[in-house]
Amino acid sequence: MTSTQARHTRRAVLQSAIDAGARCATADPDLWFRTDNEPDTEWHARRDQAIRFCTGCPVRAACEELALRNGDGNQDTDEMVRAGLTGQELAAVRSHQEQRLAAAVAADQDTDGRHMRDLTVLVQNEVISSPDKRQGRARLAPARVQTEQNHLVQMLTARINEIRTARRARAGWGVAA
Ligand code: SF4
Repeated sequence: MTSTQARHTRRAVLQSAIDAGARCATADPDLWFRTDNEPDTEWHARRDQAIRFCTGCPVRAACEELALRNGDGNQDTDEMVRAGLTGQELAAVRSHQEQRLAAAVAADQDTDGRHMRDLTVLVQNEVISSPDKRQGRARLAPARVQTEQNHLVQMLTARINEIRTARRARAGWGVAA
């Protein structure tokens, strides 16, 4: 399953849960949205009522996740409630999650970086300790030992290239970069 298919599947699961259990299913949907030019005092009273309504909803978590996935809410606009959160609160949660995701990706990439450095040191050590080099080619290493060492160096090098390609792809450079 591709990541796009997984996202669509997850959205369908969330929507099904909401369809089955939304507390607001039979309520007036206007309660959750500010009307054009509605004064603050009127909207805030309705907004508080909507937040209280959501508080007891059994599918609130699914509702919040779907709202975040759908990009609902705006930092600069106080015009809606969903999952018991104002539009501004939803935007703040999304921003916080994006920061956590970015930090997780950076940490992952750092782990890859350390892994690549460790593998590079292993390759260098193998090359330096090559029986041919160690003995100044005075005596040729047994062919089997040399073949095994060459194989190990190839495997380590291939793994380094794999990690490097994955990091570049994640950074948007594309597989061929
Ligand atoms: S959390 Fe609120 S907006 Fe979401 S489904 Fe429940 S009642 Fe409706």
